[in-house]
Amino acid sequence: MTQPADHLLDWLRDAHAMEEQAETMLQTASDRLQNYPELKAKMQAHLQETREQARMLRECIQRRGGDTSSMKDMAAKMGAMVQGLGARMADDEVMKVAMSCYAFEHFEVATYRILVAAADMAQDTQTRQVCEDILRQEEATAAWLGERLGVLTQEFLVLSQGAGADAKR
Ligand code: MG
Ligand code: FE
Repeated sequence: MTQPADHLLDWLRDAHAMEEQAETMLQTASDRLQNYPELKAKMQAHLQETREQARMLRECIQRRGGDTSSMKDMAAKMGAMVQGLGARMADDEVMKVAMSCYAFEHFEVATYRILVAAADMAQDTQTRQVCEDILRQEEATAAWLGERLGVLTQEFLVLSQGAGADAKR
């Protein structure tokens, strides 16, 4: 038999690994962006939020008696590196980055909706509150990206036609 509390701890650790991956992804992408200042600033701001999310998750995990130094975290970091390398080789890097981030933020939204329900079942009100707060941040970031994908695409296509600034990133 597996109790809700066991699944909750597992999923909190998955979420922590996910945030470590998000940190690497956002750091790499925001460092590399040059000609898309609005997107760059948003990614830097969300990077700060992401670090705080990882910290809050560690607190939840530790409070529940788990540890955060898993192999899973290492695997997630490797995944982020490989993903970053793939985008870097593209001549439309900014579009690849925007698409990956939009998908990633929705994956995060799903993760925290599940965690809110699981924390509820496990009667962990503190974890529930943390996951709800993080959920709002992920939803806001997903919505921001979603609203700007169209304009970003047009910006990229216009820059691609010119001889000036590098459209790629
Ligand atoms: Mg996050
Ligand atoms: Fe996020």
